[in-house]
Amino acid sequence: MNPFTYTRTDDPAAAVKQVSGDARAAFLAGGTSLLDLMKLRVESPAQLVDINAVPLNKIEATDGGLRVGALVSNTDLAYHDAVRKDFPALSEALLSGASPQLRNMASVGGNLMQRTRCYYFRDGISQCNKNRPGSGCAALEGFNRIHAVLGGSDQCIATHPSDMAVALVALDAVVKVRGPKGEHSIKAADFHLLPADKPERETALEHGELITAVELTRSPLAARSHYLKVRDRASYEFALASAAVALEIKDGVISAARLALGGVATKPWRAFEAEKALVGQKPTEAVFAAAAKAALKDAKPQKYNGFKIDLAQRTIVRALTTVGGMP
Ligand code: SF4
Repeated sequence: MNPFTYTRTDDPAAAVKQVSGDARAAFLAGGTSLLDLMKLRVESPAQLVDINAVPLNKIEATDGGLRVGALVSNTDLAYHDAVRKDFPALSEALLSGASPQLRNMASVGGNLMQRTRCYYFRDGISQCNKNRPGSGCAALEGFNRIHAVLGGSDQCIATHPSDMAVALVALDAVVKVRGPKGEHSIKAADFHLLPADKPERETALEHGELITAVELTRSPLAARSHYLKVRDRASYEFALASAAVALEIKDGVISAARLALGGVATKPWRAFEAEKALVGQKPTEAVFAAAAKAALKDAKPQKYNGFKIDLAQRTIVRALTTVGGMP
């Protein structure tokens, strides 16, 4: 591991000032992802600013829903009564990720900042445009079973690993950010970027900007939501395909729909075409299958991951069938 300095602060303004003033500084919260990457020598910050004492660890009721501090643990968020009742997809997504020990340490902000599980990215030696821009992408011609079929480019086809972020996209969450120029908001769907020709740039954050909270709005749609994850083993594994779905059904007809996908795309993937295919229809298996087909319409398989197209469609149909049958 490279040498680095370590400081702690309980002042958000000081944390932002310290990190934004040093291109090689990073925030440290739960550390469940960053410390792994430091040990692998994929990340080598020269300065770690520990923000665990910054008062961002509350879940507060707002007029329209919830404000979740960025340092709330994944466990506390998953088991919060209002989250389980009003945003079940979020609770399910969190509980499908990592192990209980990791969920106790991992923060909401850190979960959003997770980096890909692409083997070539994590080995630190392969050609990888994320690690070393312009060096190439070993996954394009290599073993790409876990890689993306949606949102890829000729520079990078790595999937985004977060389950929580997929649920946040389906629930129209908003990410609150504090930076050197003040505070602003980013829609969850716009928070992560497509790789295009800059795969090293993964989020809409500027260096030194700190995630302070995530805001959720209560609705009948969010209350009727569900997250389904399919993976190689039942515990502690990243998604091969996942779906966060939400339906509002009035008089037997779908009046509103949300669908986001994980495990198959380079960012948490909102499937707008599929949502359009659902609205105005009765919740039948044929309608769900048509929506699933629309969601994967633009999928581009690589040599080893073509199975994901069918798998994702089946995942969507099953998830929609579950919410379609909810009271
Ligand atoms: Fe790197 Fe992306 Fe290629 Fe993986 S898919 S090797 S992360 S450029």
